Amino acid sequence: MHLLVLNCGSSSIKADVLDPATGERVLRARAERIGTEAGVLRINGAAPTGLVTVDVASAIERLLPALLDALPDGITLAGTAHRVVHGGERFTHSVRIDDEVEAGIEALNPIAPLHNPANLAGIRGARRLLSGLEHIAVFDTAFHATLPRRARSYALPASLTREHGIRRYGFHGISHAYVAQRAADYLVGDLRDLRLITCHLGNGASVCAVEYGRSIETSMGMTPLEGLVMGTRCGDLDPGILLHLLREGYTEEQLDHLLNRQSGLAGLSGLGNDLRDIEEQAADGNERAQLAIHIYAHRVRKYIGAYTAILGGVDGIVFTGGIGENSALMRHRITQRLDFLGARLDEEANREADATVRRDGVADFSTRGSRSRLLVVATDEEHAIAMSAARLLLDRDRVRGARPIPVAVSARHVHLTQSHVEALFGEGHTLTERNPLSQPGQFACEETVTLIGPKRSLERVRVLGPARPESQVEISRTDEFFLGIDAPVRASGDINNTPGIVLEGPAGRVTLERGVICAWRHIHMTPEDSDHFGVADGDIVEVAVSSAEQRDLVFGGVLIRVSPSFQLEMHIDTDEGNAAGLCKDARGVLLATGGTASLQRRGTIHDRIPEAAE
Ligand code: AMP
Repeated sequence: MHLLVLNCGSSSIKADVLDPATGERVLRARAERIGTEAGVLRINGAAPTGLVTVDVASAIERLLPALLDALPDGITLAGTAHRVVHGGERFTHSVRIDDEVEAGIEALNPIAPLHNPANLAGIRGARRLLSGLEHIAVFDTAFHATLPRRARSYALPASLTREHGIRRYGFHGISHAYVAQRAADYLVGDLRDLRLITCHLGNGASVCAVEYGRSIETSMGMTPLEGLVMGTRCGDLDPGILLHLLREGYTEEQLDHLLNRQSGLAGLSGLGNDLRDIEEQAADGNERAQLAIHIYAHRVRKYIGAYTAILGGVDGIVFTGGIGENSALMRHRITQRLDFLGARLDEEANREADATVRRDGVADFSTRGSRSRLLVVATDEEHAIAMSAARLLLDRDRVRGARPIPVAVSARHVHLTQSHVEALFGEGHTLTERNPLSQPGQFACEETVTLIGPKRSLERVRVLGPARPESQVEISRTDEFFLGIDAPVRASGDINNTPGIVLEGPAGRVTLERGVICAWRHIHMTPEDSDHFGVADGDIVEVAVSSAEQRDLVFGGVLIRVSPSFQLEMHIDTDEGNAAGLCKDARGVLLATGGTASLQRRGTIHDRIPEAAE
């Protein structure tokens, strides 16, 4: 199998045709300095041809036909994998690209103005020119989707962060995930047994704490500007500095240019962004160059110390990227005197460490007795992107459409008939809408009732509207024990042979003879959604949810309910939500179906469920 991996930046395009199983390249194409008179196109390292194009979109029009022409005989492409820098909150895994996904990536342009527009231009051009191929987006942020809330949140007002999507997303995830896996392979351990700190030190740079295979902290934030000192980016700053410069008359453009292009190693040294030049000048006594190296190493050490504390110890510290892989001097400065955390530097091994010549791509530069290993791992982001895309292409039957399903946690609630509304709240009373619910026409009411069970009572239980042909009470397993009621797990509306309960409102009591259930976890969807996921009404499926609290779960026995009046959403109760540590905006991924056998035994669901039922 061979895939084309496209990595489109604002001034360059990297295109590799490779075998995802081995990472072996059969073809490389590079377009550089796009948009300038000096633009060039190189195929397989051959002499460059001129490429005077105005933008990425026109460069891709030139590059792809040339690349297809140069494909060796016998090599066919099984798909195209696109690197996308920002996946936002939505794209937490690689996805097949359709028009809707393309629009989703475009919607992220405002929070990734430097990267996503170029990625998108590549996607659009390639989808048009290679329309017979599957296109897959692989996101740089996706590996960090597991960041716990405490790590991904900034201490700003909650309403503001929600409104503007302000949170830590993290970047370089493709590289961090790849080198962590390589390090685990080398350490002859399962990644799930290891606590690693991965340092991607290239022109852009970030650190990641990888706990048992999951990113739990990373230094880049909402944008790739936070964290380490980089080639031309400043990394961490006191935000007060920006306020000061604004007051001093700096414009938005000037600040952007200052922080992204004039800072970091280049700004500190005054010698440009290439550490090779800075190291040379430092050796000749250039003080600015020496200080730049000190500040760079100090910042990385600071993060390693902090991340060791967060991980509660570290089994391996991994260096990658142009600087991490090639600068023995920088590795030395960063890792000397880390003995206190169990990492002992072997000076000679560090000087000689060259991961690229090793078959496993890993060079170990810690001493024999070092409890925590110091490793250089050659990153290969294109290979990582190809592997991720290949997994998606080969796994098409298990993961049913990568489209995530919003998961809503339903608190205990009550549905009432109109006559019960009047008995509880007074003659002629009608339900008052408090706020709409996600399912069209459904709403939470101002009205609440008390549930009086054999053992105890639960007060202020919300009534949901509109009124229904039959009253029904939906509680969790914990509520059942509290009230002293044994309620069966049922689909909404299926209340034959269920226990009753006493309801109390301001105007009186109602004794229900039946209707108390523990709601069967279910997914509402439209017929279009059911086509997309390849499921039918009444099917039973599994849904994997990833949790902010690292308590991922796969829910089995999830009932599919299809109606044109539904909106795509999975409903679970509070016990289920708490078990998975779910918070607002949780999402699930549909896995294999368990078939409809259990339901066929019990009749069809639509015989028993009212339209648009909760
Ligand atoms: P990357 O973005 O991962 O390609 O890293 C590029 C950066 O790595 C360059 O700008 C240099 O600063 C740095 N680099 C590459 N090779 C060396 C080397 N031999 N010594 C020091 N720095 C290097």
